[in-house]
Order: sequence, then C-alpha cells, then structure tokens
Amino acid sequence: MGTYREQGIVLRSYKLGETDRILHLLTQGRGKVRAVAKGVRRPGSRFGGRLESYSHVDLQLYEGRNLDVVNQADLLAPHAAVRSDFARSACAATMAEVTDVVAQEGERDNALFLLLQSGLAALDAEPREPEVFVDAFLLRLASTVGFHAWTDACAVCRRPGPHLFLSVKAGGTLCGACAPPGTRAVDPGTVRALALLAAPGEWVALPAMADADADARATAASYVRAFVEHHLDRRLRSYDHVPRA
Ligand SMILES: [Zn+2]
Repeated sequence: MGTYREQGIVLRSYKLGETDRILHLLTQGRGKVRAVAKGVRRPGSRFGGRLESYSHVDLQLYEGRNLDVVNQADLLAPHAAVRSDFARSACAATMAEVTDVVAQEGERDNALFLLLQSGLAALDAEPREPEVFVDAFLLRLASTVGFHAWTDACAVCRRPGPHLFLSVKAGGTLCGACAPPGTRAVDPGTVRALALLAAPGEWVALPAMADADADARATAASYVRAFVEHHLDRRLRSYDHVPRA
C-alpha cells in the first residue's frame, strides 16, 4: 500500500457521509478505480470544483483497503462546457455509464481511456448535434471490447463492400449472399453514416454528416443502440435522456 499518481476521468460520483464523495474514475494506467474524496462537499474544500463528473484530472491517490483515497487533484481538462447544457451532459452521462460498465478495476485499457478522453473533448468543443458523438463513442467502444461493427465489408464472409444489408447479431453490414432471406436493404447513406460513426479518431466530420442526411442519421442511430445493447447485453438507461433532433 502506498501513494501513486494517475491521470483519470471522473465517471460518476455519489455522496458518502456528511462531506465526502465516492468517485468512479477511469484511469490511464489502472483501469477503473473507486476512490473517496474526503471533505469535497465542504465549503472551501481543497479539491474545489476539480472532481466534477467528466473532468480529466491528474491525481495523487493513496491505496486503501477497500477504496483508494484522493490526496491531490489537478485539472487537465475540466470539460466544463459538457456540464453546461442538458443535451451535452446527457450525452456525457451515457458515455460515462457505458465506460463504467465495461472498464475493469486494475486492468489498464489505454484504448478505452483515449476513446473517452477524445469523446468528451469532442462534446466539449462542439455544441451542435451532440448525440452524434455518443453514437460514435458507443460503436467504437463496442469495437475496443471485441464487438466490431463491420461497415466496409460483409460481417460474415468479409467480402469487400459497401453492402446494404444490416444485421445487429452478425455484427454489421452483410452481402446479398449472407443476408437472411427477407432482410430489407438500407439506403447507402445509412451505411456511409455508420462507417463514419465507426471510424476511429473521426469526430470533427460527425455534426456535418448528421446535418446532411437526417434520415440516414436516424436509422444509423437506431442501429447503434440495438447493436450496443445486444452485444454488451445491457439496456442503456441514460441513452433515453439523450435528446434527438
Ligand atoms: Zn457475405
């Protein structure tokens, strides 16, 4: 037991006793960490507003028996704009909820950390169409935990696409030969929207895509939700609060 330093992102927090908070953090080096921030709800707390949800912080922690204890916290990125309006905070809540579900304690997952960091930064920087960032985040998160959505090839036979049949269970687009009889084709715009949502590191082009083709965008959004809920075997409760244009 001892102290250690970590970068972390606050996923959620809840009250403990009179003045403390328990935090769920996604850290860069240790996966999910549950820690207590003592006195954080007292006026004049030395942590100030540095441990708000979705903040990216540099932390010094002390290893406790059950929960680690936050000794020091310095803001790297407050992501204050994310908390400033209802739509964006609902979007960030969904990102954090799903991350909290898939992150493992004591297991470093740098891809997940970078995905959450970049997703929150994208939400923070761009107020338009925030829900498009959630859909991109969810599809990419599913891929990092082993459920990749194929958009440029057939999910079954890997024949290069684009293909216009979509399957949640099979994991993406299907060619005509692999699609079960009766599968309805979607329009090419939907497949293009999904490909952009799934493209690692692509955030800047997403709002324009959402603006350009609302129907394709809506079909892609329904698909993303069904895909993620099926493969993570979990209903996304906070996703219900994400506003839809
Ligand atoms: Zn095929």
